[in-house]
Amino acid sequence: MSNLDAYKIIKPLGSGSFSKVKLAEHKVSQRKVAIKIIKRRLIQEERLLKKVKREIKILKMFHHPHIIRLYEVIKSSKEIFLVMEYVPGGDLYSLIERNGRLSENEARVYFQQIVSAISYCHDHKVAHRDIKPENILLDEESSLKIGDFGLSNFTQDGVFLKTSCGSPNYAAPEVISGSNYCGPEADVWSIGVVLYALLAGFLPFDENNITALFSKIKAANFTIPHHFSKGAADLVCRMLNNDPVSRITMRQLMDHPWYLENIPMHLQFKETIIDCNGTIDCLSSYRANRNNREIDEELLERCMNFPEFKNLKQDKAQLRQAILNKSQALFVVCYEILLDEKLKEKRKLLNEKTISLEPLFKKKNGIFLLPPDDEGPMIMPKNGTKMHTNLSTGLLHNWVYGFRCLVSAYSLMLHLFEAFIELDLEWKLVTNFEIRVRTVGYEDALLEAIDTKNIQPTQYGKHVKFDVRIYKQEDIFMLDFTIISGQMMAFLDICASLYGKLRMIPKLLRKPSI
Ligand code: ADP
Ligand code: MG
Repeated sequence: MSNLDAYKIIKPLGSGSFSKVKLAEHKVSQRKVAIKIIKRRLIQEERLLKKVKREIKILKMFHHPHIIRLYEVIKSSKEIFLVMEYVPGGDLYSLIERNGRLSENEARVYFQQIVSAISYCHDHKVAHRDIKPENILLDEESSLKIGDFGLSNFTQDGVFLKTSCGSPNYAAPEVISGSNYCGPEADVWSIGVVLYALLAGFLPFDENNITALFSKIKAANFTIPHHFSKGAADLVCRMLNNDPVSRITMRQLMDHPWYLENIPMHLQFKETIIDCNGTIDCLSSYRANRNNREIDEELLERCMNFPEFKNLKQDKAQLRQAILNKSQALFVVCYEILLDEKLKEKRKLLNEKTISLEPLFKKKNGIFLLPPDDEGPMIMPKNGTKMHTNLSTGLLHNWVYGFRCLVSAYSLMLHLFEAFIELDLEWKLVTNFEIRVRTVGYEDALLEAIDTKNIQPTQYGKHVKFDVRIYKQEDIFMLDFTIISGQMMAFLDICASLYGKLRMIPKLLRKPSI
């Protein structure tokens, strides 16, 4: 079976400068995909072909919740087929056209997603260079996917100004001046234009005459509508700064208060953590470095059970390796498609759970797990004694339950949050490396206990409140559980259940130590 036979074409979705895009079904999983068909004839020029190849290679490695996934590349003598994630909701341009300007809260949701996606690219040394609402697709549930990646780059190079392809309204001053210098700063400018358009409902720079347009862009000559909030206006002005050197950087804008407001859980971490191998870890399974990827064992089994794969010659270990090497395309694509579906569900759950804790258990905005230039959480002293400097005194606090693990801090946190959800616990981040956790219903139990003037731990029933701290010792992270209130036995039960859940993390945790 040729790889293309794995798909059933359904209907056309659209067309771009070099390609046609069609909706198709991946037959085994029965999930929809989009297939971009590029005619080789159109990219015959050596330089373009090289660029397409390079960009495909990069995109294939990318895995980010707000970047369209590329599952597979199939080549024929006349065409190149890019099998991509299908994004059903149309593009951001049509959304603005249809609805006019968005509220600041709505615009922020999209803006945060675009920023996290583009920052992920920059961390992989890739600048998008063609960010505009037409290249940003929407799926259900207000989730954005940046598309037309890199492939659009070559439409710009050199000939950008002379050809009609590409819209110059989003281009940075240094790009339209023909300066070769157009990297991450140019993307910041373009995202600034998108943000302005989302908030205003029209473009900051818009003229029928291209010369007038360019002089406005070069002078950063735009006006801020009066309804922009102070924070939004400040951010837009910093992004639309015509001097690329003093323009706000991606990192700085991710620390801007307007950006940080209501940031969803899955974007709350500085999403790039350079791990010990120097590779970048985005979301637990979103690793660009394939050798470090975790395999979802449940999913692997599920894929192996499809009738189509029943008589595969490889055993489980070989298929695991195939996923890492992307070598068994038919099987691996199926795994990847279902993995994305699963991760999407997980993200949804994570975000819903966190939001539902407000306002009682409000999380602090802008608290990140691991600042990139930070050495990590509090270091365990060599002699193994634990530091509890900021705890109020009390007998209970001498009880500590901990385990050690080898996964990255980021991955560990996500596993931990998932386990909390499964065990019906709610939580907030107290500091970068400290989480306060309690059983759902804790508050009511506490109020009742106060009402009856009996605040002995026994009155809490099964309710407990405890702290989880993360320590780092060389490559190993250590989770430390400390009870704050509630019954000791209930606390130990929860610790045991948490350990049970966390044991499932690949690169297994060591035995717990008390
Ligand atoms: P080009 O790189 O040739 O400009 P695009 O990636 O912009 O092509 O795709 C052209 C059109 O096809 C888009 O405007 C969009 O309507 C549709 N399209 C592209 N990719 C997808 C996708 N993954 N899911 C749904 N529609 C898509
Ligand atoms: Mg396009």
